[in-house]
Amino acid sequence: MKVLVPVKRVVDYNVKVRVKSDGTGVDIANVKMSMNPFDEIAVEEAVRLKEKGVVTEVVAVSCGVAQCQETLRTAMAIGADRGILVECADELQPLAVAKLLKALVDQEQPGLVILGKQAIDDDCNQTGQMLAALADLPQATFASKVEVSADAAVVTREVDGGLETVRVSLPAVVTTDLRLNEPRYVTLPNIMKAKKKPLTTVKPADLGVDVAPRIKTLKVSEPPKRGAGVKVADVAALVEKLKNEAKVI
Ligand code: AMP
Repeated sequence: MKVLVPVKRVVDYNVKVRVKSDGTGVDIANVKMSMNPFDEIAVEEAVRLKEKGVVTEVVAVSCGVAQCQETLRTAMAIGADRGILVECADELQPLAVAKLLKALVDQEQPGLVILGKQAIDDDCNQTGQMLAALADLPQATFASKVEVSADAAVVTREVDGGLETVRVSLPAVVTTDLRLNEPRYVTLPNIMKAKKKPLTTVKPADLGVDVAPRIKTLKVSEPPKRGAGVKVADVAALVEKLKNEAKVI
């Protein structure tokens, strides 16, 4: 069975992004970029399935600028067998990515697509669900455990009230939650090996997909600054402030 793993190049999670002065977005010039953390978990899970012998091939896909090749090489250093770059210099919104992935699902016919539950730059949490709808595949989102057999996957999901276990027939779409696994450390020999793995590049037009944005960002702004706190003398003073100042009790 083949697994397709979409990996997004995003601003590294350690970077504190700054809003552009004109409020049109965040400044990503000269900022460290990395693989979306949830996608690292997705690659790790796919590679573990391969190591267990359940999966035969892991294919990583990234949609975006030419530098996404680095993200694909990281996926291959974790253990993906090959990479596909859907090269596009324009902004790609989740619906466009889902359409591109749907076209690749038609081409590659994977038994499983494992995506991150959300990208940490746009926080959309949409692509996996949209792909499942477009490709008419069952979906199991926010997976914290995945068990795959020949024709089905049993997925434990993290929901508000606790854990939910669902069974989806394959092919299916799964999205990863933080506790699914801890991605392995990428070693230098594996980085070197990854350089030799096959990487193909296609354009959205080759896949017959119109990637024009459907959503317009009107304004991006910093969250309001938090005011300084105060120390109260005793519980009575606290209750008085909560009642009369904050008016929350
Ligand atoms: P989002 O819906 O934007 O929060 O993204 C959810 C997941 O979709 C990510 O964790 C990735 O697995 C996948 N994804 C989103 N955008 C891209 C992209 N440009 N290239 C590859 N995968 C993507």
